[in-house]
This record gives sequence, structure tokens and C-alpha cells, in this order.
Amino acid sequence: MRILLASSEVHPFSKTGGLADMTGALAKALAHAGHRVGIVTPLYRGIQERFREIRREDWQLGQPMGGKFAQAELWTLSLANRLKVYFISKPEYFDRAGLYNENDADYSDNGERFIFFSKCVAHLARYLPWKPEIIQVNDWQTGMVPALVHHQSRKEGWGDAPPVCLTIHNLAYQGLFPRNTYDLTNLPLDYFHTGADQTGRVNCLKAGIAFADVLTTVSPRYAREITTEQFGCGLDALLRKRSARLFGILNGVDYAEWNTTHNLHLAAPYSIHRMRGKAVNKAALQRELGLPVVPEAPLFGTITRLTEQKGIDIQLGALEEMFSTKMQFVLLGSGAPEYERACHRLAARFPRRVGVRLGYDTGLAHRIEAGCDFYLMPSKYEPCGLNQMYSLRYGTIPIVRKTGGLDDTVVDAGEDPPRATGIKFTAYSSAALAKAIRKAMVLFHRPDVLTTYRRNAMAADFSWERTLGEYERVYQSAKLG
Ligand code: ADP
Repeated sequence: MRILLASSEVHPFSKTGGLADMTGALAKALAHAGHRVGIVTPLYRGIQERFREIRREDWQLGQPMGGKFAQAELWTLSLANRLKVYFISKPEYFDRAGLYNENDADYSDNGERFIFFSKCVAHLARYLPWKPEIIQVNDWQTGMVPALVHHQSRKEGWGDAPPVCLTIHNLAYQGLFPRNTYDLTNLPLDYFHTGADQTGRVNCLKAGIAFADVLTTVSPRYAREITTEQFGCGLDALLRKRSARLFGILNGVDYAEWNTTHNLHLAAPYSIHRMRGKAVNKAALQRELGLPVVPEAPLFGTITRLTEQKGIDIQLGALEEMFSTKMQFVLLGSGAPEYERACHRLAARFPRRVGVRLGYDTGLAHRIEAGCDFYLMPSKYEPCGLNQMYSLRYGTIPIVRKTGGLDDTVVDAGEDPPRATGIKFTAYSSAALAKAIRKAMVLFHRPDVLTTYRRNAMAADFSWERTLGEYERVYQSAKLG
């Protein structure tokens, strides 16, 4: 198949979270499976410097934006035989310090930036000479693409327009803008009234859900959850209406990148058969974060955006209780200033137990996954979650709340004792998490059982090859209409 995949972030070019990992890895896996794949993404600051082979194409992307006209350049990079990246270069919009925000404040023109980007995606889908057969868009930033394609196919002579698949990575981020932002789409008003309108404002994700031919989200459980009022973020009624076209497909892991045997970030390689290197990584991590190098101290870790979603509040509460034991805890994260301050305070109060690094550091993320004994992920909700899957491969036992993709990817002893890979808890509370941490402490002191958990975890296969077929089926069903 010929697939055009559009995303506001794609690893290794730009990343704020799992969206980048997913789109980068899915594109690679699709190309590897023999499909022709084009990725469309903004040319953010620094990409040209890091990827010297990028070339400017003789192709100006001019788009009406309300009453004005905006123009971008097209830059491309071939990654593999059937895999090419199309960068939208528009420095006024994308040559900035952040992707979506700076100093904890969203850019005020995000609506404009990503409506323009969405128009460029529709334009490329229409005019690329290799004629994409399916367009896959991701999250609110490309949420307007389905309506744009729909309109052009019905009213502007694009008779053979391909179907659009919208993947929802996180329903909580919808791209909500003032009503006048809609004018920038240059779409007739009926697309507002039958799709984008949210009590008088423009909701980009809602428009995407209304007009996409098929919808996917990133785990089977989250697909069910988002059709309920509790998880539906106000869009559950629309999602219920579209549920026959909504599919939950678990994200895969790019094991070429996230592995413990060939990984330059790690202090020592290790594998299911040679676990000695894991202890070396643990000692190195303790040293790196200024903690006492004590093999007997169970080491817990977290790598996260510091937002309410990730359960930071119950985590800080549970840890308070646990520092009477020998445990150590390391955290890498960035986000809400109040959580950053709370993490710093915790580290200041328990300097021999807690190591905190605020910021974004891919190498340290790998070292935490490798060096810890347990990985904490007590999310309030979690569409898929990647870190728990990385933990599994790194033999680091995940402790997760039973929600979304966390529930779909971790096996608790209560569910299937011989196949257990982690520890799950249900209630969203510090007490429930503390209880799960106590279970982990017991497990830590039972090396034989711990070894079984690790073996199960490291053998678990969440590769893209496993789930690619499901995307192929969804694309096919979209083509059939
Ligand atoms: P989300 O997309 O909701 O942030 P995921 O678990 O799906 O959560 O994906 C998060 C991705 O971002 C993982 O690859 C994780 O390692 C990475 N990540 C998150 N915070 C940081 C950080 N501070 N430094 C480095 N990597 C991070």
C-alpha cells in the first residue's frame, strides 16, 4: 500500500512524548513490511542542523489562511528505500524553541500553525506523484485533515481522494480554539456545525473524529474506555456514534532502539541469559544520580511528563510512606512547575533515597529503564504507555495502575501466576500504590520469583511486526469504505 502518515512530532526529528515514538516506529515498520510510506511533519528548529542530508524541493506550498495567503517550502529526507520524510518549512510557525509551548505557556497561534500544517498535509496527499492510497493523521494537530480532504473530494474535484485514518493518542488534548480560528480553514460553515463546533469554539480533534473514515486509538482497552463518560473527555457520545469504525491497536516498540544488548547509552549490555550487566547498570545509575551504591536497596524509577495524568500526586504520597524502608527512587521528568518543585523537595528531604533530574534526557531514560529494579507508572489514565513496555524488555518490573494500555500490556500474578510480568493495582490512591510497592519489596527479596518475572517480562513481544497486520486491516477496511 502507499501510505502518507502525518504527525506534529516524529522520532528522531522531534519529540515531546509517545506520539513521536509511535509515528517514527510505525512508519519504519510499514516500510520494512514492503509498503511505500511518506511522513509529513513540521521542520522545527535544529532539524536541518542534525540531519545534514535534508534537501529542499522545488515545490512551494501555498495555502489560503482565511483572507490571507501563507506559503511554505518543502524539504525532504529519504530514510530508506520506501520511506521518505516531507518536512514543512515555515520558520514563522516552526522555527521556535518549543514544539507547542514555551515556559509552560502554549503558543497563542497553535490553531493557526496546525491548521496550516493540516492544509499542507492535504495538499501533499493530493499532489504527490506517487498518489497515497491512505492518509493516517494523528491527534488534534492534524485533526482538520479529514474535513479538508472530505471537502476537496466532494466539492473541489479530487475525485479519487484516499480515505483518512485518524489515530487518537490522547483524547484529553483536543486543540480547542476561539471561533474565529475556524475562518483559517476556509471550509464551508457546515463542517463547523456538523463537526468542529464545541459550544461555539473550534475543536480540531472533534472535527477529525467526525470526518475521518476510520478511527484508531493506541490500545484495545483505551478504545473501550473513551466511549464512556468517565474517559470520554466530552467526546464520548460522538465516539459511541462512531464506534463501529473505532479500533484499538496496541502501539509497538522499536526494539532496534529500545534494547539492552546493543545500546550505547548503557554502562553494560545484558540479556535474558546474561543478567550480570543489569547489576552494573544499577550501580552506574545510583552513582549518576548521587545515591549510595547499594545492590540490596530496591531501586524504583519513573520517566515522565509531569502532568496530572501520570499520577504524580499519588506517587509522591506513596513514596513518603515507603522511605522508612531501604528503597531508593529516581525520577526523570519535566512539566508542571508545581510538580517539579514537589520532586525537588522530596529529593532535598531524602537525599540518600531520592535522585531527581528535571529536563529531557533520552540517554538517562534508557539508563533508568536498565538500572532500576522496578518501574512506577500509576497513571490516572493511559492510552497506551510506552515506558512500561520498555521496562518489560529491560527486565525492570513495571508497577502500573489497571487502566488503558497499562492493563493490556502487563500481566499481574493475580491474573496468570506463571506468566506474571508486573504488579497492577486498581484504586487511584497513594494507599493502593503503596500496597503495590510493598508487594514489589517482597518480590525483590525472593530472587527465584523475581527471576521468573524478569524472564517473562523480557520475553514479552510488543514488536511492531506483531501489530502491523491490524493497521493493514484497518487501512484495507477504510479503502473499502
Ligand atoms: P506520553 O506520550 O503520555 O508522554 P508514553 O509512555 O507513551 O507517555 O511515552 C513517553 C515517551 O517519552 C517515552 O519514550 C519516554 O521515555 C519519553 N520521555 C518522557 N519524559 C521524558 C524525559 N523527561 N526525558 C526523556 N524521555 C522522556
